[in-house]
Amino acid sequence: MFNLQGRVAVITGASSGLGMQMAHGLAEQGADVVLLARREDRLRKVAEDIEGQYGVKAYPIPCDVTQLASVQAAVQAALNRFGKVDILINNAGIGSVMPAEKMDDEVWEHNLSVDLTGVFRTAREFGKVMLEAGYGRIINISSMYGMVGNSATPASAYHAAKGGVVNLTRALAAEWADRGVTVNCICPGYFETELTADTLKTEEFKAYMERTVPLKRYGNSGELNSAACFLAADESSYVTGAILPIDGGYTCV
Ligand code: NDP
Repeated sequence: MFNLQGRVAVITGASSGLGMQMAHGLAEQGADVVLLARREDRLRKVAEDIEGQYGVKAYPIPCDVTQLASVQAAVQAALNRFGKVDILINNAGIGSVMPAEKMDDEVWEHNLSVDLTGVFRTAREFGKVMLEAGYGRIINISSMYGMVGNSATPASAYHAAKGGVVNLTRALAAEWADRGVTVNCICPGYFETELTADTLKTEEFKAYMERTVPLKRYGNSGELNSAACFLAADESSYVTGAILPIDGGYTCV
């Protein structure tokens, strides 16, 4: 099960962190991968590593998900290279930590533009290709913060955007279900990446994590991969609109 050979997977935010890890995960199952992010040097290195380790094709394309022309160019480049796109992991994201009363409209709008509008725009543009083909697997990366608030780090725009991704997933799943495209969502908990390292490594935050995460640890590198491969595979054909927390139990208590 979960063999992805012959499948083409696009991963946004693949230049670091969870996107890079999931790109490895899908490639390990045999998928050719298209790697999108803004930092081209980082993408090229990830592509080299993946091709070297798994013998699949890895194609880096610089792309800014806040720019429609950039996303459309990425769709075209992926099609020119592989002729199709089967899987999209909509993972690119940012997060501003700031008290709500101090957050100006600019910060709010920037968070929404990457974390929510960027997800919609990318799903729509790659979704058109999938709908045309009558097959697709879209996996949106939200956050456990898309399901609950939190009292450790103020990030209202991030919460709003990630909550939006959860319900956007349900809406797209319902719209596209009878046209061969499934849309699901993963809500990660705390994983140490460039986005979170400064916060997660403090003793204060570790103590907070131990109180609030039943498994009493951060997620390890690669711990999203099994879910990503499951949702990307043919075998998840009856799963759509699902919201899957991978958070060590944070949202179950
Ligand atoms: P990283 O900062 O390591 O990765 C974020 C990725 O998004 C980078 O590859 C970055 O690439 C890309 N990105 C940012 N802005 C844009 C943009 N405008 N266009 C295209 N790509 C962009 O963080 P994580 O790996 O931790 O985060 C990945 C996802 O997981 C995010 O959506 C995040 O919200 C989510 N998440 C992470 C959690 C964690 O604990 N780490 C917890 C819950 C959710 P580049 O700068 O090269 O463009």
